[in-house]
Amino acid sequence: FRQLIGSRPSVCPSQVASSSPDSSPTTKLFIDGKFAESSTSEWLDIHNPATNEVVGRVPKATQTEMLAAVESCSRAYASWAETSILTRQQIFLRYQQLIKENIKELARLITLEQGKTLADAEGDVFRGLQVAEHACSITSLMLGETLPSITKDMDTYTYRLPIGVCAGIAPFNFPAMIPLWMFPMGMVCGNTYLMKPSERVPGCTMLLARLLQDAGMPDGTLNIIHGQHAAVNFICDHPAIKAISFVGSNQAGEYIYERGSKNGKRVQSNMGAKNHGVVMPDANKENTLNQLVGAAFGAAGQRCMALSTAILVGEAREWLPELVERSKALRVNAGDQPGADVGPLISPEARARVEMLIQSGVDEGATLLLDGRNVHIKGYENGNFVGPTIIANVTPAMKCYTEEIFGPVLVVLEADTLDEAISLVNNNQYGNGTAIFTTNGATARKYTHEVDVGQIGVNVPIPVPLPMFSFSGSRGSFRGDTNFYGKQGIQFYTQVKTVTSQWKADDATTKSPAVTMPT
Ligand code: NAD
Repeated sequence: FRQLIGSRPSVCPSQVASSSPDSSPTTKLFIDGKFAESSTSEWLDIHNPATNEVVGRVPKATQTEMLAAVESCSRAYASWAETSILTRQQIFLRYQQLIKENIKELARLITLEQGKTLADAEGDVFRGLQVAEHACSITSLMLGETLPSITKDMDTYTYRLPIGVCAGIAPFNFPAMIPLWMFPMGMVCGNTYLMKPSERVPGCTMLLARLLQDAGMPDGTLNIIHGQHAAVNFICDHPAIKAISFVGSNQAGEYIYERGSKNGKRVQSNMGAKNHGVVMPDANKENTLNQLVGAAFGAAGQRCMALSTAILVGEAREWLPELVERSKALRVNAGDQPGADVGPLISPEARARVEMLIQSGVDEGATLLLDGRNVHIKGYENGNFVGPTIIANVTPAMKCYTEEIFGPVLVVLEADTLDEAISLVNNNQYGNGTAIFTTNGATARKYTHEVDVGQIGVNVPIPVPLPMFSFSGSRGSFRGDTNFYGKQGIQFYTQVKTVTSQWKADDATTKSPAVTMPT
């Protein structure tokens, strides 16, 4: 850890010994431009998922600390909102460069706390970096509209303006990408930002904050608090916070959407998923099987866009044995080990839940073609490992189909026709992502038009849009009106002011008050 942060002051569980009885290194709060030790008496352990060793501790911030953080955001807002857009752009231009320079350090922190492989962790940073790069286009993204001469000598124009203090609540599975969906877009619009990273993986966000400070971001514009329910309730309730971006489970997302909205805040809530990969018999078999295996088991299935369900249509059913063979070939190991394809799950509880859902499939009559339970990884016997698992003959009523598993488990359904596959997808409660594999354009077009899912890949297994578009999950995977990043992200983090002005060239004066509605 010490090497990861270099000689700079500690921002995450790295250098400073805790003053509490437990001597594990502590994660700092980031308040008013300072990385500060919490005075709380309540701490949570951070584990390395490959070993379950405690690698640090994270505080549950006290009420006083959370108030100090939001007050710092409020104070900084007055000047940050008025800072020239070119200055804001310049800071993000420097920021994206600093992220690039520190990609290995960020990835190593992710692997340590989250478990995913180092290569995958770099992908996590890279997809977030793209959003920080996109933020540099703010001078075009924040343009308003104008309409001259709406009547004689009268013009109307709009400004896009920031809304105030915004807040982000992040999940554990993308420690870099998801916080980077949040604060760069919010802050480049002129808002100040209160971030609550996942308490399981706070280190990466802390280093991202350090880099933003190094890029020249003024004190108080970004504050970071840690914790669980109390911190979430604080964000939902504090009147200075105008908007909340949430990504995580449905349980938390629905709650935050309801509580935040009730308090008059804008909320965008990206939640769980059950993404279907529909395999047509005319698909390129080689590519399709490789893509399916990668998208089902990469990141140990802990991606909201993982293809966790395959629907084999018609003769594509015959590809199942080969799918199993390719899945078996993946190497399960600690994320920092060379050649690892599948790392551990985040916690022993997550592992137990995934194993319970696998067993539920067996108990309900499905066929376990590949069983990843009881994998033993030499040197990592205490890790939360589950190997690639394939459950076939699954039907829509089974628990392993109705619940998001969030592990390296692919459930396989079968369909006779494309219509049958579309009906399965549309009857599922979630609408996050899906993919169709086919070489027929008409089939692909029919699928993309008829399927009720926000993000669709055609021969693309994980169609997470680049940040010039928006992440457009729908139905049970999203609550809110405007999605993350892209044009919708700018809309979420800004308000519009519409100005109508009249400048008469001939200086004509009116003769009497107009009491009728101007037309
Ligand atoms: P989580 O809901 O447990 O945690 C997310 C955040 O909410 C954390 O900061 C946590 O402290 C807080 N939280 C947790 N439980 C809470 C509760 N009961 N009340 C209030 N706050 C609570 O989610 P996770 O396990 O960290 O992440 C995995 C989930 O996130 C999966 O369901 C996955 O599909 C989803 N996810 C969705 C997207 C998307 O864009 N749709 C992206 C990534 C992850």
